Formats: sequence, structure tokens, C-alpha cells
Amino acid sequence: MERMSLESFNIIESTLREGEQFVGANFTTDDKLRIADALDEFGVEYIELTSPAASPQSLDDAKKIAQRGLKAKVLTHVRCHIDDAKLALDTGVQGIDLVIGTSSYLREFSHGLAMQQVIERAVEVLTWLRAQAPNLEIRFSTEDSFRSEEADLFRVYLAVDRVGVDRFGIADTVGIATPMRVHQLVSGLRRLVKAGIEFHGHNDSGCAIANAVTALEAGATHIDTSVLGIGERNGIAPLGGFIARMYAINPALVKKKYRLKKLRKLDEMIANMVGVGIPFNNYITGVTAFTHKAGIHAKAILNQPETYEILNPKDFGMTRYISIAHKLTGWNAIKDRSEQLGLPLSDDQIKEVTAHIKALADEKKLDLNDVDELLYRWADGASNEPIGK
Ligand SMILES: [Zn+2]
Repeated sequence: MERMSLESFNIIESTLREGEQFVGANFTTDDKLRIADALDEFGVEYIELTSPAASPQSLDDAKKIAQRGLKAKVLTHVRCHIDDAKLALDTGVQGIDLVIGTSSYLREFSHGLAMQQVIERAVEVLTWLRAQAPNLEIRFSTEDSFRSEEADLFRVYLAVDRVGVDRFGIADTVGIATPMRVHQLVSGLRRLVKAGIEFHGHNDSGCAIANAVTALEAGATHIDTSVLGIGERNGIAPLGGFIARMYAINPALVKKKYRLKKLRKLDEMIANMVGVGIPFNNYITGVTAFTHKAGIHAKAILNQPETYEILNPKDFGMTRYISIAHKLTGWNAIKDRSEQLGLPLSDDQIKEVTAHIKALADEKKLDLNDVDELLYRWADGASNEPIGK
């Protein structure tokens, strides 16, 4: 089961649902269509939309996207309620994601239903939906699953399984789960049901990507992501970070499934739309994601990039950068730069310049121009003049 899930996982891309819950997100119809098209080009298997019950515009937009003829299946995420399910059906989406809270917090402070009522509601809505649309892809998810009683969760999942669903959802709504907990809960459910299992994980304590991959290892089949991870609070597993993780496990599979070079445009588009920058340390598309600095790293990278890179920047349309204007630089990296500039310097000369750069970097902050200027001077045989700044 572990290998199978890692080799046949599906991405449920929720930028148009969870992402709309990000504080800076206020997508227009045109924005939503651009996002849906870009995600479809990237190759995600599913695109999840905000509930049509949220607003009249949400309803219209869901209809537009459902009828756009995308390769990805279009889903909408609704409360487990007949009225919402009916509205969702009317949009023409290919699948409906039902959700209901099962933690004591949600039962007491949100919908106010006891566990038995939750089960009755779930069975009622599912039975109705199945009768209306036998071919619809239906998911049933609990909310805040990791602060729900495990016995309660399994009671509701088993009751739902008797009616029949395509997929069960487990949601770490508050970002409290750790990989061990995720493995335990997903594998427990995996033993009980045959349907797909979807994992939705928030990133409040930094475990979202690890939890998503662990869910797959435990037998989950579908993972929720959003571009840059945008969502409620600090969001969920980011599409790019999840892709980086899966690529690290099986690059050939990930290259085959998705058009990886589209990731940068996706990250940039969403960052612009929601008014944030791409973090410097972002997976794959952050400015430092493929920047190497230390001399010993640079030397090995120049000889064989895999020495210090598990992700090949070329596969993502990105380029590697070796930072050389600093005290940790090494002569192999400086030599590489002099070759780029076409300067005929001997190894001894390169070593001399490198020593000079290191000494100078102890005195002041250098940039690439300073390094280049020194290299040109050495090539001109004027190495003794002080650098002019
Ligand atoms: Zn969420």
C-alpha cells in the first residue's frame, strides 16, 4: 500500500477554496479563471472551489469553471447539508466534497450537533446526493479530525461507508498533527475502508508537507494543496513544497505527471494577486532555493551538482547560482567565474586572487562586480593596485 500510494497520488488543488480563505485573497471572476487555467496547465488532477452557498458570485463562478472543459476534475467544498449539496449539484461540478465538524469544539461551538446527529446528517445528505447523481464523485470529510475522538471518527466513517462514498477526508484543520499521528489515523482508516483517502493539513506548526507525505505512506490517495500554501491563518501544504518532496522521492514520476516549469509562473501569479512576495526560502521558486555559497560546496557543485542538490533546477526552469563574493569562497568557484569572463588566468593566479578576495571580504562587503574587477586586474597584470572603493 505504501508504495502504491506514493506512485499514484492525486493533488486536490485548493487555491480556489482554501486559498480564498487567505486574508489577502479577494479573487475576481477573471482571477479565478486564470488560476483554474494555470493549475490545469500545470497538471493537477483536481481543482477545488469555494462553496456556491458562500455568495451569488461564488455560485456563478463555480458554474463557469465547472463548464470550462478543464482536464482537471472540478470539485466544490460544501457543508454537509442538503441545501448546500443541492446548490453544488446545480453548478455542474464533477465532484462534491462534504465536510462536517466532529471535534468537541466544533460540535459545541459551531454546528451544535451531538455525534449521533452528525452521523444521521451525513447519511441523510449522502443518500440524497447518491440518488440525485449516481456518477458524481463524493467525498465525505470530518473537520478537525485530530482533535476528535478516534472512536467517533470511525463510527461516522463506517456509517458513511455503508452508504458509499468515493473518498474519505481526514483534516488537520488546526495544524496540530504530527507525522506519527497522521500515520496512525490514516492507516487505521485504511484498514477499515476501500475508498480513497484524502488528507488536508494546515501548517500552523510547520508539519503540513511532512504530514501530507506521511498520509500517502500510510495509504492516503489524495493530498490537498494551495499555491504558496495560502489559506486560513498561515495556510496548508504548499503546492510547490509538496511537489519538491514528491520529486525528491521519485523525480521521473513527478516530471511525467506535472509540467514543472509552470510552477514559477503560478507562484508569481498568486503572490501578485494576494499581495505578498515569494519568500526567499520558498521551495523551488525562492531566490535562494538554488544558491550555493561555501567554497567546498561550490567546488563539488561545479563538478557534480547532485553532490549538494536533490532538486535539479533545470527541471523547474530555474537556474543554479553560486555566490562567490565572500570570505567563504573557494578558488574552484573563482576559477569558474574567470572562465565565464574568458580570462586567461593560471591556477596560481586564481589562488592568489582568491586569497585577496577572502582578505578583502574580512574588511568589507563585496559583490560580484568587485570580484570581476579583481579578476580583470589580475589578467591585466596589475594585481598590486588597491581596489578603488
Ligand atoms: Zn483548511
